[in-house]
This record gives sequence, structure tokens and C-alpha cells, in this order.
Amino acid sequence: MHDDRNLVEARLRRVLDERIRPAVYPESVPLEVAVWHAPGEPVPVAEGLAATPEPIAPGAAWGAPWGTSWFTVTGTLPAAWAGRTVEAILDLGFNENMPGFQCEGLVYRPDGSPVKGLNPRNQWVRIGSPVEGGERVRLHVEAASNPVILGNPPFQPTHLGDKETAGGDPLYRLARMDLAVFDESVWQLVVDLEVLGELMLELPADGARRWELLRALERALDAVDLQDVNGTAAAARAELTGVLSSPAVPSAHRISAVGHAHIDSAWLWPLRETVRKVARTASNMTALLEDEPDFVFAMSQAQQWAWIKEHRPEVWAKVTKAVAAGRFVPAGGMWVESDTNMPGSEAMARQFVHGKRFFIDEFGIDNEEVWLPDTFGFAAGLPQIIKAAGSKRLLTQKISWSRTNTFPHHTFLWEGIDGTRIFTHFPPVDTYNCSMSGHQLAHAARNFKDKGVARHSLAPTGWGDGGGGTTREMVAKAARLRDLEGSPAVTWEPPADFFAKAEAEYPNPPVWVGELYLELHRATLTSQAKTKQGNRRSESLLREAELWAATAAVRAGAPYPYEQLDRIWKTVLLHQFHDILPGSSIAWVHREARRTYEAVAAELTEIIDTAQRALAGDGDRKVVFNGAPHTRHGVPAGGARTVSGARWTETRERDGGGFILQNDLLRVEIDNRGLVVSAYDLTAGRESVPPGQAANLLQLHPDFPNMWDAWDVDEFYRNTVTDLVDADEVSLDGDGVRVRRSFGSSTVTQVLTLAGGRLDILTEVDWHETEKFLKLAFPLDVRADRYASESQYGHTYRATHTNTSWEAAKFEACNHRFVHVEEPGWGVALVNDSTYGHDVTRAVRPDSGTTTTVRVSLLRAPRFPDPETDQGVHRFRHALVPGATIGDAVREGHFINLPERLVTGAAAEVEPLVTVDDDAVVVTAVKLADDGSGDVIVRFHESRGGRARATLTPGFPVAEVVATDLLERPTGAPGQGLSVSLRPFELVTLRLKRA
Ligand SMILES: [Zn+2]
Repeated sequence: MHDDRNLVEARLRRVLDERIRPAVYPESVPLEVAVWHAPGEPVPVAEGLAATPEPIAPGAAWGAPWGTSWFTVTGTLPAAWAGRTVEAILDLGFNENMPGFQCEGLVYRPDGSPVKGLNPRNQWVRIGSPVEGGERVRLHVEAASNPVILGNPPFQPTHLGDKETAGGDPLYRLARMDLAVFDESVWQLVVDLEVLGELMLELPADGARRWELLRALERALDAVDLQDVNGTAAAARAELTGVLSSPAVPSAHRISAVGHAHIDSAWLWPLRETVRKVARTASNMTALLEDEPDFVFAMSQAQQWAWIKEHRPEVWAKVTKAVAAGRFVPAGGMWVESDTNMPGSEAMARQFVHGKRFFIDEFGIDNEEVWLPDTFGFAAGLPQIIKAAGSKRLLTQKISWSRTNTFPHHTFLWEGIDGTRIFTHFPPVDTYNCSMSGHQLAHAARNFKDKGVARHSLAPTGWGDGGGGTTREMVAKAARLRDLEGSPAVTWEPPADFFAKAEAEYPNPPVWVGELYLELHRATLTSQAKTKQGNRRSESLLREAELWAATAAVRAGAPYPYEQLDRIWKTVLLHQFHDILPGSSIAWVHREARRTYEAVAAELTEIIDTAQRALAGDGDRKVVFNGAPHTRHGVPAGGARTVSGARWTETRERDGGGFILQNDLLRVEIDNRGLVVSAYDLTAGRESVPPGQAANLLQLHPDFPNMWDAWDVDEFYRNTVTDLVDADEVSLDGDGVRVRRSFGSSTVTQVLTLAGGRLDILTEVDWHETEKFLKLAFPLDVRADRYASESQYGHTYRATHTNTSWEAAKFEACNHRFVHVEEPGWGVALVNDSTYGHDVTRAVRPDSGTTTTVRVSLLRAPRFPDPETDQGVHRFRHALVPGATIGDAVREGHFINLPERLVTGAAAEVEPLVTVDDDAVVVTAVKLADDGSGDVIVRFHESRGGRARATLTPGFPVAEVVATDLLERPTGAPGQGLSVSLRPFELVTLRLKRA
């Protein structure tokens, strides 16, 4: 037989596009449309419904950037349509080539009850089936004219990303606004043809099934009368029943479809718009659940659920009803789908505390899976946190975005720094926007790396970010794919059901040890510096606020600000969302974030001040409070003392220019260029800076990645570098040295001082560059194969060399408070108060010594999505700690982030609520229990990667000690009392019931 594949395939495409799809709506009449444009920000629903609209015709322009327009559509069903199915088609001017990211609408009945969302690929509203004819129709649409930020071509700088700079020109043109007859039979034929046509293209050309499908499709096309598609659709479908009823082969891949809409909590729109995006999509999904009995929808991010509850009670009522039926399912257990590289230990823990608690309190649902499809890499501290929150499974597909190495598994055990293992699944469909296309499903089956031993994978299915979620077409496709020869078998089910099957069939999955590093989006550790500083500062202040408020409550009977702390935590957690903290949102989001962090800092400082005043009493003594987890200058961790410490630094001029700073621990030479040419550890008698080199070196690189400007730094940035060695000023400033430089359109001022064994460097940059990357370099005379970067509840090691492509790909990585390099017996730490990105490289010198260079990433200047990213003044604090052990790095990292606080009062001392007798054991939280019982919660961990045995001494009468999980629930583990043995990096939470 002749091979006419191409001919029939092309015929299918054209007939579907030009004849059959248009016949789904064979008759229509226009609706009358009127509109009222809300003058500013969105208004309450009642106000939008009550407004007086003006007539508007299809084709008219509407929608200033970020505006809200209330459309009223009215019409009468023709009498001739009696008995037919009728829908309204409401096209706000959508571009169907993009599933979301543009204008959107939510349809209401005149009584204010929501009907469903309107999205680019979801423009219909069912009016009746069957209708009587003659009925009046009246609907209201709350339409948001959100601008397209990521257009075509992508990554072009735009000022549309902030209402303050976006202008007022309308962005959209109203398109079709009709009442139309819906021909169910033709619609079903379209789905049949799509499912079989797409499956056919994925099948091998030398297999019989492909040809069976081709011939069946050809017979169906022959059966369609192109002048009477509606009259012949049923006959065409009859030609396909045979191939549609042939069952899947026994070895077919099994796909658990989970209805989903990945909604970024802020990104190319502000937070307030996400509140509405979530309401629209949730309305769509509750409506679809009513129509489709097999369908299951999952929504993550407790914050988004809380928004619905707070802002859209009518939508919330429908959602809770569907939750009770087990069909609208909370996914994961985090407050938001956060970044997991940058959040600190406690913040990462609280993502789970607040996320899980919301679902438990509202629905009694305690999920065991973590749902993070889109997060930019996963820190190796996370497995222990997941387990300590009472969960045990993780889902993400993001690592499939890595550009260098292909991850070897899709289902595996992920082992973290402490040895905790988490059952992990990467959906092989490689997207969180599956649309049930034949190509996606075939890709999932082909791509699945665990074939032969496992058969199940998960497919998050639906359009996110303003796409409205799963469509009825996806559900109709899934119904045909339930058991179809040649295709993976598709079943709708909640994530938990998938994980149960996947675990049962795969008792010994492979193991991946250490971080899940995303080989992409590395610049998210640096972009939007003030957002990152706001996060770090908030985390430190929250630690102090809880510590001092708890201490004041126990010691002085002061009220504990439960509700305030709960609210502030949720605000900080929200801003750790995977496009806010990473700096990849529009200008509006980061502008608001800066303001929010300022308010958070003010509120937390007030809590701290109030507590410390209550503890210090009235008087005129100088009382020093130490909020860090180690004793400092004689003040115990978590306590206060009246202190008059004599600290000295000697300063003198250096031969050849510059200055020398010296105390009893360190001697630092700063040359006439303002560079550190020597940092000598007087205790060990050892030099930190390699001969002929200089530390504290600012380096400027061009930084124009191939795509994803705010997200990416591409490796070639290193090929070109300018060392900023020219100083405008190098002078003594009190006990320190001030250095001023100018470059490009920017200036930088640094002040270098000694603080015990630390060289502190305060860097102030007035940054006015574009597409540049500013690094601060510290070449160190240390030979080390690996370096440690602080992560949650411990640290992670990475290679200093690039032997393998996996190591080479980690050319920019995340640290929290420190990076540490060492030879046996001697090391150096570089600590910071607010930066995350860094790189470490090595070189062997002519003298055969090895230089290990640690570089801090200070600032970038991408122009998309915020064209003014990071312009202006920034302040960073870093410190070099020569001779530091890993324990010193941990301690100094805390010290630089938690400065002492001086309070005037009467108390000679404030005893800590709890004292730990081993410095390796770090207390990360002291607080009152969230249940209001007054119990004291203490969380601590082994911080050096070894074993520890520590005794906790409470500074108050304790009736009982209970080990708990992160949610402060008893673990039921045998109690160790107050004398605790810890494995490397082990995390422990104790509830101390007060006697
Ligand atoms: Zn996302």
C-alpha cells in the first residue's frame, strides 16, 4: 500500500481547524455589552455590580494597564433555540496563543454569586441545556486588564510592570461577546480527533496501531459532510468508536493526572492581583468539578486558600464543599511554594508549620507530600525539615530545567545533610501545565527513567497563572485516555493516591545524596538585593522578637504577642515565594516588598524593645542583650549583662602606603589601593592572603544572559572582568579604614574595622549600572577540595574544582550566613549579613601554593522584568575570619546577623530561658508554644556535622519535657529529657511545660 501518511495528517489538521472546530457553535446572536471602568484599584464585588455602565461595542479598546473593568452583558435567547444547549462566548480580547499572563475575568450572576472565570482558552459560560427560548440573560464580568510582561520576543525591558510607570493606554480590544448554540456532538468529535490524531503522531511508523488510527481517522473525515458538519458529526464519531475502545497494553505507563493551576503568588503581577487570580481559577474549578464526576483538582499554598477565605467568601463556600467531597484537594503543606535555597532554618520550618496548620485547622487534612513544582533548586537541609513537619514525600519537576546535566531518576529517595531520606518524584512530563496532549503523555512515558521497576508518574494538568486551571477539553481527553491502546493510561487522582501507588511499586528506589541543584536561575541568589536583605533582617528580628518576648513573658509576666507574631511570620513567609525572594518579579512587587519589610522591621523592633525594657526595668545601667546562640563578650546566649568591655584596635600607617589594623588576634594590612594585602592570624601565626594577591577586591563583570535576565547568570560572564583597584580615598576613620572608589556611574565606600578575630567590611554601593555583576573577592592561601556553605540547620559541601560537569555547573551557589574553607587544622570563614550568591574557585600558583578564591555576589542590574533592578544605594556587611573552624564560622555568622542590643535599665543581669552546655549545639528558636498554653518551645540542632551530647538547663521551673515535631505536636519518641544526644546536623524541638 502506498504511504499517504502526510496527506491524511495534513487533511486532519485543516479540516479540524477550518471546518469542524468552527461548527461547535453553529449559530449565535450578539450580546449587548456595557462597561464601567473602576477608577483605581479593584473595588468590592457589590460596588462593581452596582455601578452604572456605558455601552461598548466589540472591537472597542478597553483596559488601561492594571485596571479593572466591570462588563455587563445582556441578551435574549432566540425562541428558535428551544431545546438546544446555549453558551455565552465572552472574549475579552484574549490572545489564545498564550494560555495565561494577560487579561482575565470572573463572571458573576446579578446576585453577586460567582459563575466561573474567563481565560484565554476558557471563554465559555453555560447558559442552559436545554433552554426554553426567549429567556433573558444578564451576566457581569469583573475584568482585569493585566498587561502582558513576558511577550514575544521575550525578556524585553518594559515599564508596564508597575502601575506607577505603566501609563494609561488601553491594552485590549473587546472581541466576540455572543450567545451561541453549543453542538455537543461536534465538540465530542473534536476531542476524538485530537486524541487520536495526537496519539497517532507519537506511535512508531512501523507499528500497526499507527496505521489503524490513520485509516480510522480517514474514514471519519470521509464521513464528515463539510457543508453539514453538525448533521454528520455523529456518523464521523461512529467511525472512531472501534479504535477508541481498544484497551491499553498491560505494560502501559500509568499517569496520575492531578487537576492543577500553578499560580505564582506574585510574579508578573502584584500580590493583590494574585488574590483575584486564585478566586477566578478556584471558581472555574469548582464549576468544572460539578460538571465532571471523575475530575480531581489540587491547589497548593495555604496562603492562596487563606486569600479566598478572607476576600471571596462566596468562592470559599464552594471550595470547602468540594474539599469535603475529596475532590478539591489541598496539595502540599507549605504557606507558599517558597524558594528553598535562601530561607533560613526557622523560616523554612515555619513554611511548613503555617501551611500544614492551615489545612489541619480548616479541613482536618495533614498532607504528607510537599508540592514544589516550580522552585529553583532544593537545599540539602530540606529533607530533615520535611520529616520534622510530619511529611515524607516531595514533588517537583523543576530540575528538568537544568541546562547541563540530566538527572538520572524520576522517582528516588532524596537524602539530606543529616541522613533523612524523602521519597521524591519528578513528573517525567516535565511540566506543571500538562494539557493532556498526546505528545506530553508520550514524552512522560518515554522520558520516565525508572521504567522496568516502576510504572507510575504524576502529571499536574491545567493552565496556571491566569489560565484558569484545567479545561473541560483536558477532562474529555483524559476520559478517552483512561484505557487506550498506544497511550499511557490516565486516571484523575489526588497526589496522595499517586504517592501511595508509587511507593508500593518501588520499595527500593535509588538514592540521591545532597542538594538538588538547579543548573539554571543562579542569579536569583543576587537579583533585587533589598528584597533579600529584607528577608534576612526579618528572619533575624523574628528570632529576637520570639526570644525576648518569651523571656519577658516567663520572667516578667509580660503578654506574649501571639497574633502579631503569627501575622508577621505569614508576611515574611509569603515574601519567600519563589518569584519574590529570588528577585524575579516585576518592579511593583519589589517596591511593595521593600515597604513591607520596613514595616515588619519596625513592628518587630517594637516587640523587642518592649520585651527588653520589661526585662531591664527602670534604671540607668547599660544592659547588653545577646540574642545570638553563643556567649559574646561575657553575655550568655539569650541573656543580658551590664558590661563594660575594653576592646582595642591599634591603627598605624603602613610602609609603602595604606594602614595596618591590629588587635590581639589579627593584623590586617590595607594598601594604598584600599585592598587587603595581608590578614595575619596572630594566634596561629598564619597568613590568609596569598603572596602578591589582595582581598576585598571588587570585581565588575558584564552580565547579559541569553535569556531570563533577572534569573540567570551565564557562565561566560567570567570571561570579562574589571578589577576595581583605583581608590579615590583611603583614610583612617576612627578605629577603621575608609576606602572610596568610583566606577562607571557608581560609587562605593567601604569601612574596614577589626571586631575580635574578624575583619568587618561595611560596603555601601550607590549602584547605577546596567547589565553588570559586582563581586567582592577574597583570594585565600588555603588548599581545599571542597568548601562549606551554610544551609538550613547545617551546611552543605561543594567542590572547589570542576572535575565533572555536575561540579562545573555549580559556578554560582547559595550560602546563608557563612562560607568556610579549610585545610586540616586551619580555615577561613567569610560571613555576611544579607547576601546569598557566591562562587569559589581555585588556582595553583607558581610557588606551588593553592589559592582558593571566595567571591561574594553583591549586585546585579538586569533589565527584565524590572528595568530598574537594584538601582540606588545598598549597604552590605561582610567579615573575614582568619583561623576559623566550622564552629567559629557558625558563631560569627550569627554574631554579624544578631548584633548586641544596648538597653538602659536596672537589671544587673537577665538569665537566659535556656542554656546549652555545648557550643556545637545551636538554639534556633526560643518561643512560647503557638497553642497559647504558655509552654516554652526550644528548637536546636547540631551545627558542625558531628555528634554532640548536650544538656539544656532551663532558667525556670519545668514540669515536663516533651519532644515535638515542628508543629509542636508530641512525636511520641522516647524522651531524652534535657540531656540530649544528637546525630550530625540533627534537629530537635522540645516543649518545656512550666511548673
Ligand atoms: Zn512559579
